[in-house]
Amino acid sequence: MVEDTNIIKDRTRYIFITGGVVSALGKGIAASSLGVLLKNRGFKVTMIKLDPYINVDPGTMNPFQHGEVFVTDDGAETDLDLGHYERFLDQSMGRVNNTTTGQIYESVILKERRGDYLGKTVQVIPHITNEIKRHIRQAGREGGPFHVVITEIGGTVGDIESLPFLEAIRQFGLEIGRGQAVYIHLTIVPYIKSAGEMKTKPTQHSVMKLREIGIQPDILICRTEHKLTQDIRAKIGLFCNLPSHAVIEGRDVSTIYEVPIRYKAEHLDDLVLDKLNLPGAENDFTRWIDLVDKIKNPKKQVKIAICGKYVGLKDSYKSIIESFTHAGVENETNVNLIFINAEEIERDGAEIHIKNVDGVLVPGGFGQRGIEGKILAIQYVREKKIPFFGICLGLQCAVIEFARHVCHLEKANSREFSPDTCHPVIDLMEEQKNVHSLGGTMRLGSQPCIIKKDTRSFDIYGQERIMERHRHRYEVNVQYYEILEKNGMIFSGFNPDLELVEMIELNDHPWFVGCQFHPEFKSRALKAHPLFREFVKAAVNFHEINHPQKNTKEKSTSKEKSSES
Ligand code: GLN
Repeated sequence: MVEDTNIIKDRTRYIFITGGVVSALGKGIAASSLGVLLKNRGFKVTMIKLDPYINVDPGTMNPFQHGEVFVTDDGAETDLDLGHYERFLDQSMGRVNNTTTGQIYESVILKERRGDYLGKTVQVIPHITNEIKRHIRQAGREGGPFHVVITEIGGTVGDIESLPFLEAIRQFGLEIGRGQAVYIHLTIVPYIKSAGEMKTKPTQHSVMKLREIGIQPDILICRTEHKLTQDIRAKIGLFCNLPSHAVIEGRDVSTIYEVPIRYKAEHLDDLVLDKLNLPGAENDFTRWIDLVDKIKNPKKQVKIAICGKYVGLKDSYKSIIESFTHAGVENETNVNLIFINAEEIERDGAEIHIKNVDGVLVPGGFGQRGIEGKILAIQYVREKKIPFFGICLGLQCAVIEFARHVCHLEKANSREFSPDTCHPVIDLMEEQKNVHSLGGTMRLGSQPCIIKKDTRSFDIYGQERIMERHRHRYEVNVQYYEILEKNGMIFSGFNPDLELVEMIELNDHPWFVGCQFHPEFKSRALKAHPLFREFVKAAVNFHEINHPQKNTKEKSTSKEKSSES
């Protein structure tokens, strides 16, 4: 019944990563960490995330449901794990690297309507599973060929909705044969305080569930708070049909960037390469070790506030949080992030919330809730000369604030929040006016921006033409360029094709920069984004001038850095 047997000839190796017992074990970090190790051993590696939900992509989901929507260069709205893949592997992903149940069914139904399956009953096996396999293979080809494709299966083994994906990867391994595929299962070994013991039963059950489906994992990575002793490894191995050296410890660490180092110490890369019959060169890993060392031993401290609307779920700002880690490393500084709900600023005023910070970032967002709080925060930092960084909606709010309080256009607003405003300084883009459907219809993906010479933005980037990723519908309204510029707002970056404002700045201020694009999607573990790097530098300078005595005494309180998730 196999429709396509091409993969039998395909020499690319495939690694499948599943998760068991509970969600949020950090499969994305585990997959990315293995990717780093294999890349370091000289292999061309790519990744694909399979998401079992029925949405075509996460683009229409509320950030509280799903966390951040990660945007790729080619304009795909994808799962936030792709952000980890890019940041860890220092490699751009695309549409092909994230597949959902929605996409699989969409293409199978399209083929059915076209008559491709004429005469046949279209079924989960083989049609849906074949389509899943096709997506996995395609990820290995586009931009490749790759030596290794790491496939992460979303959800937890035992979920009904992930069954077709598990069946597909089972078939995949069978078709390509031994030595071509490795199955890694991530589980948890909890410590039961009252018994004073670590318990292996949840892992045993999860592996049983996987074997019921026909998948015998080759390697187990066990998340644990404590050391995984030889006895426990042997016990898990016995019950799960594995040698004990294939039971790997996935201990909690203080920064996610330490995970590759821990896995290396456990010889995960050797184990995988051995299973895949791949001879890997041993390469220098010191840059990664240095990175972790710098994260753990910062010389300075700054406090930066993120003033947004989705602050209840930190995953909504995943890439921003990680960008600050990278920028902190390049400034040898620990960036303590505090999250402020913009509605609280509306209620209490800005001063009480942000008087002790060294910088404020207003991130992207949608809808009216919290907007006036963000505008109050921006007015405060503009007037008090506290470093400010506005991303997408953050730029739009900065323009509204400036129009209202500097240009005296008191009713200035965005048509997104006030469709009948008499001063729509932020307006819907022309090409968006007839768009009615929500999925994948924003201005999306990588677009060029030309930076004006003699601006702060030019100093930051050190080049005239940059490419950055977008995800929005609204823009600075061309009819207000003149009045905004006359009052001192600098439009430092423009899209060369559409003549749209992409960057703004103020020059009677230590650091006030806004961008219509999302730089957080391009920051990498070993290469901080220049905007974040320079914003943190400005915050360090501000801190040194305003709270010089504090810097060496403060301790990290950054929660984001204390868990592997
Ligand atoms: N809501 C705004 C727009 O659509 C900003 C979007 C964003 O911040 N990503 O233009």
